[in-house]
Amino acid sequence: MWGDKRYHTLDWELKKTFGQKVIKLSLDGGFTCPNRDGTLGTRGCIFCGEEGSGDFASSPTLPLSAQIEQQKRFLATKWPKGKYLAYFQNFTNTYGPAQYLDALYREALAGEGIVGLAIATRPDCLPGDVLDVLAHYAEETYLWVELGLQTIHSSSAQFIRRGFDLECFTRSVGELTRRSIRVVVHLIFGLLGETREDYLETVRFVAGLGVWGVKLHLLHIQRDTDLYHVYQEKPFPLLGRDEYISIICDALELLPPEVVIHRLTGDGNRKLLEGPRWSLDKLRVLSGIDQELRNRDSMQGKSSQP
Ligand code: SF4
Repeated sequence: MWGDKRYHTLDWELKKTFGQKVIKLSLDGGFTCPNRDGTLGTRGCIFCGEEGSGDFASSPTLPLSAQIEQQKRFLATKWPKGKYLAYFQNFTNTYGPAQYLDALYREALAGEGIVGLAIATRPDCLPGDVLDVLAHYAEETYLWVELGLQTIHSSSAQFIRRGFDLECFTRSVGELTRRSIRVVVHLIFGLLGETREDYLETVRFVAGLGVWGVKLHLLHIQRDTDLYHVYQEKPFPLLGRDEYISIICDALELLPPEVVIHRLTGDGNRKLLEGPRWSLDKLRVLSGIDQELRNRDSMQGKSSQP
């Protein structure tokens, strides 16, 4: 159904839509986050490093056009040709005045070969005028908005210092989908105190929301985070590779076939990652997931509710 995979990959979805490979360019719009600037807190989410939540983003000191060219050059050895999505990943990319956001997104779309926008944010940073800007771009271009839910369980949400409740998240998903804006939800497996059934309860909840995509992450203990200090003081069990693979396959079975899978494991920072170190071998994790789905003779959506 999805090329050589048993789940609905983003790569497959974008090739189907654009007829060729589409590459994400990680851009930095110079944002901060209410969980860091003192509005809600100063330390951020417990797992969030000093550089925010993005991987490989360009420097915010460069103008956007220079960031776009830099990212294209950086990725050219792997993908010399392709179309591009401007990906605002780091920190909270709707945390600013609507006019500023509008100008920033427009500038990104003006880059050569850019066919759409991907914007990562928080559900409590989507006021009406920002939703209007996003709705405008959803009509004009290919757009998705990413929200970091991580878990539906309130004790874990407090532990990670997420700073918004489930009601806020659900309301924002409703506001976005009502405006035909694609929504991608981030979840983390391996949070302290959660069990396999807790992760899967979160997945069932998200599966019922009608979102467009999901990003599934393993909890990383990174040395530049508060979580590392918690872990140092009182180490707690981290997920093992086989256990993680098995949980991911359970999650895929619960997600409807139309949900686009953006990620099944994170890119840990090799220098900063305390654990689980096995996650650095991403290919082994991904091939383990393929193998486990074959062993089960299973696929995404096998156990999803119609
Ligand atoms: S909301 Fe995102 S950017 Fe802000 S502190 Fe949490 S993980 Fe970091």
